[in-house]
Amino acid sequence: MEIQEIVSKQKDFFKTQQTKNIKFRKMYLEKLKEVIIKNENLLYEAIHKDFGKSKFDTFTTEISFILNDINYYLKNLKSLSKPTKVQTNLINQIGKSRIYSEPLGNILVIGAWNYPYQLSISPIVAALAAGNCCILKPSEIAENTMKIMAKIINENFPPEYLYVYEGGIDETTELLKLKFDKIFFTGSTKVGKVVYKAAAENLTPVTLELGGKSPAIVTKDANLEVAAKRIVWGKFINAGQTCVAPDYLLVEESIQEQFLETLRNYIKKFNYQPDSTHYTKIINQKNFERLIKLIDKDKIYFGGDFNEEKLYIEPTVLTNINWQDEVMQEEIFGPILPVISFKNFNITLNEIVELEKPLAAYLFTNNSEEKENFTNKLSFGGGCINDVMMHLGNENLPFGGVGNSGIGNYHGKFGFETFSHQKAILEKATWGEPNIKYPPYEEKKLNWIRKFL
Ligand code: NAD
Repeated sequence: MEIQEIVSKQKDFFKTQQTKNIKFRKMYLEKLKEVIIKNENLLYEAIHKDFGKSKFDTFTTEISFILNDINYYLKNLKSLSKPTKVQTNLINQIGKSRIYSEPLGNILVIGAWNYPYQLSISPIVAALAAGNCCILKPSEIAENTMKIMAKIINENFPPEYLYVYEGGIDETTELLKLKFDKIFFTGSTKVGKVVYKAAAENLTPVTLELGGKSPAIVTKDANLEVAAKRIVWGKFINAGQTCVAPDYLLVEESIQEQFLETLRNYIKKFNYQPDSTHYTKIINQKNFERLIKLIDKDKIYFGGDFNEEKLYIEPTVLTNINWQDEVMQEEIFGPILPVISFKNFNITLNEIVELEKPLAAYLFTNNSEEKENFTNKLSFGGGCINDVMMHLGNENLPFGGVGNSGIGNYHGKFGFETFSHQKAILEKATWGEPNIKYPPYEEKKLNWIRKFL
């Protein structure tokens, strides 16, 4: 079947109203869970082939997220879908006001390669929970994970409800010409703009989950052991190919030496060797070459080693970095950690405020004034104080960017709302209405209205 035909079938299927039924949605969410669990080993094998990601990492950062999402919606679907009663104001008496969460219709999800399961399937889970039909176009860069998702989903779901369409730029460009009720895109800011433009042609609403340079700040009031351990984990998991990884470090000058030492100890302790179970390859040659160019040999504090054949880059820390260095110009998206030292926290904060709004930001300190200034002055998608990345693991928090790092958000109830329209209904009684709003319009009536309003 051609993709145009599948999109058209999804539109027709949505009109049958079947996806609005809560039992129907739950049945297919259960089915998705069953399909994922049954094929778990195939999912592990495929991602290992693509970039050497281990079973442990794949379960903790991908599969467990998806299963948690499914369980969340199975548990909360009834309450999320229930109309909300709101107050009715004086001029609308006698009446009742309610807000209905209505599915949008046919959805297009475009996924990224770096967490290919989580970033493709989690949005689908939210879209189906909200009662939509869905097409997923995963990233062709992680080819094996794209193929396995297409196989297990297309073999188990009717295409008019859920379908995985395999393809790269050409196929996505064709897909973007078709009309959807929502496009949910995860990827780079550059391609996000392409998607936004295409969506505008059809006035299609979008959620754009993009990237950026996410800072981590360590001040003299931080617990340095905890900060170093958590930053090393967050930066080098998935070999730094994580949208919310700390992109660069800002470290207070007075503790820099001690902190760098602690950082180095943890990198050594975690033993990021090629082919190890807790370190991945760089996804492809193109990214490998891009990253190698960012390593300024004169500024290496730790690491800098690489192996082209294995697409391996050792965790690398660069020091004596300034804002003009090449490594500070674009999102790094790899295992290179530049460190800039600072003397004054508030001056540094003001410098970051001037940059594009990042997807995440992290602060390590026990100083309450610093925490307050960080939270109130700096705009970013989301983040942590005294940790990195773990805000994503709380389904009660929205996940999404702001400015250049994205539009909209998801996870938990926010994912449900992202794929729903909030329909307002005012229901009026057919009695008890004063004649005041109807012509003829007299001065006396206007005086009454002034009093009411
Ligand atoms: P990408 O933008 O290159 O690709 C994303 C998707 O867009 C893929 O499915 C790809 O096939 C498609 N695509 C690529 N070029 C296209 C074009 N010209 N026209 C239409 N479609 C096109 O991103 P990527 O390399 O997969 O991921 C890396 C980027 O994504 C980083 O910037 C990272 O920060 C960001 N990211 C963001 C999140 C988030 O949740 N906010 C998560 C992961 C990655």
